[in-house]
Amino acid sequence: MPLTIRAIPVLSDNYAWLLRDEATGMTAIVDPGEAPPIEHALEQVGHRLDFILLTHHHQDHIGGTGALRARYHAKVAGPAAEQHHLPPLDIPLHDNDTIAIGQSVGRVIAVPGHTLGHIAYYFDQPPALFCGDTLFSLGCGRLFEGTAEQMFTSLAQLHDLPGRTLVCCGHEYTLANAIFAQHVDPANPDLAARAHDVRALRNKGLPTVPSTLALERATNPFLRAPDAQALASLRRQKDVF
Ligand code: ZN
Ligand code: FE
Repeated sequence: MPLTIRAIPVLSDNYAWLLRDEATGMTAIVDPGEAPPIEHALEQVGHRLDFILLTHHHQDHIGGTGALRARYHAKVAGPAAEQHHLPPLDIPLHDNDTIAIGQSVGRVIAVPGHTLGHIAYYFDQPPALFCGDTLFSLGCGRLFEGTAEQMFTSLAQLHDLPGRTLVCCGHEYTLANAIFAQHVDPANPDLAARAHDVRALRNKGLPTVPSTLALERATNPFLRAPDAQALASLRRQKDVF
């Protein structure tokens, strides 16, 4: 049985992701930036939280961890490489480790760039990627700690996951990203169609995520950058756009 996935808006423009393994009822939350909206969502899944999965150490992704752990006795998993900047980890994770939410098994992919220890979680039924601030719909994370070379290698690893993979990212940045993407890739018809859809969704107050990896491969200039130099140039332009 599959994993069901739900985006929970937290703070001003973050998403936490609620995962429920339908075979066992076990649940997990990815990147709880604050606790109250997640506690509210957990009312609908039996007030149960088994795991908290962290992608990186920024406060907008970890702020609710302490309160949720205390209330639900959830186990906290996150990047071992950032554990001195994180709430205490019950399960420190490294590249290629796995973590089971009931019968759903997630694989850890190290994706340095935005931060040096940043990890993503990939589940395969349905294929879903929880990528924090590494890959956004139509964008990528800022290079706060890592280099463009590191981010290029990280995005290259995500690039080849199955096309129908749900891209579950950490922020609702898609509209602003679409404006920049069209600025640097004005003749891309798939991007024009996506930008149109994104405007319609945001006008209705709806989330633009999850996206899919096939859609990002067709439209996301950062994922389409041919090499690290091109990615570095795009990132520099976007930082001041
Ligand atoms: Zn971040
Ligand atoms: Fe963030």
